[in-house]
Amino acid sequence: MGRVIAVANQKGGVGKTTTAINLAASLAAAEVNTLLVDCDPQSNSTSGLGFVKDPERVSSYHLLMGAATGEEALLNTELDQLWIIPSHKNLIGANIELVDADGREFRMREALAPLRERFQFIVLDCPPALDLLTLNALVAADAVLIPMQGEYFALEGISELLDTIERIRAALNPSLGIEGVVLTMFDERTNLAQQVMAELKNFFGEKLCRTTIPRNIRLAEAPSHGKPALMYDPRSKGAESYIRLAKEIIERQPSVGQTNASETFATEEHKGEAVEEIPAAADMDKTA
Ligand code: ATP
Ligand code: MG
Repeated sequence: MGRVIAVANQKGGVGKTTTAINLAASLAAAEVNTLLVDCDPQSNSTSGLGFVKDPERVSSYHLLMGAATGEEALLNTELDQLWIIPSHKNLIGANIELVDADGREFRMREALAPLRERFQFIVLDCPPALDLLTLNALVAADAVLIPMQGEYFALEGISELLDTIERIRAALNPSLGIEGVVLTMFDERTNLAQQVMAELKNFFGEKLCRTTIPRNIRLAEAPSHGKPALMYDPRSKGAESYIRLAKEIIERQPSVGQTNASETFATEEHKGEAVEEIPAAADMDKTA
């Protein structure tokens, strides 16, 4: 069974899409079949991989509305082992169209279920909101990867995301875990960045990814060329950092890479225990 990772943070512009595209591409480059699902009406993952807007194309909107299967929505990308289910701006309407629908939170989970055998990783790029679209992604996911900018207000709003994850675990998806927290646009040379990292390490412990993503112009340029950074400029610091992040994530998965027993997501027999406690939101120093 593939692992479904939702890249989520309701704060805008923290690097969700950049992380989703480049993590998915790096996983594919590591020769594991990977699917990127664009769950955001902004469709930045879709355009970032070079797909022009096309209202006729089967998209994540059709999946949520039950109008197409996951199989019908798959598109090949320039990378052999990377596929995408694109988005379109009409996805914004699904929030309203599904309000009274049966099982409205389970639509993405059900659509992806038949694809889980085929892909070792399914990466979901979420919109900057805790809306029904993000809810669908979090119900479909095994774990959440939270990109955070290493800045003074980094933790602001995180309690709301952690509360949402708790509520989803309680009601809709008991096995939802935290894959990790990844620092994006990170400038390790500044004192402030070091302070923020120490604060996050203190709060998230092992969940804070060892890999940090530097601010790197190539990461910002690559989407306008319709390519992940590793195809646009494979030797850039940005591309290299996402390759390292992919390795770190693969290492945590017992079924794909080598098992590292010291990781929180440990061995098969401990799988059921992998759901860790989230520190109480009140314990957080929101000024970090
Ligand atoms: P939204 O909340 O709107 O979906 P997001 O969280 O997906 O945004 P991105 O679109 O990935 O964030 O990034 C926001 C902007 O910052 C983009 O212009 C992107 O190119 C740029 N960016 C992201 N990460 C980096 C980085 N490490 N270095 C330089 N620029 C970056
Ligand atoms: Mg985005």
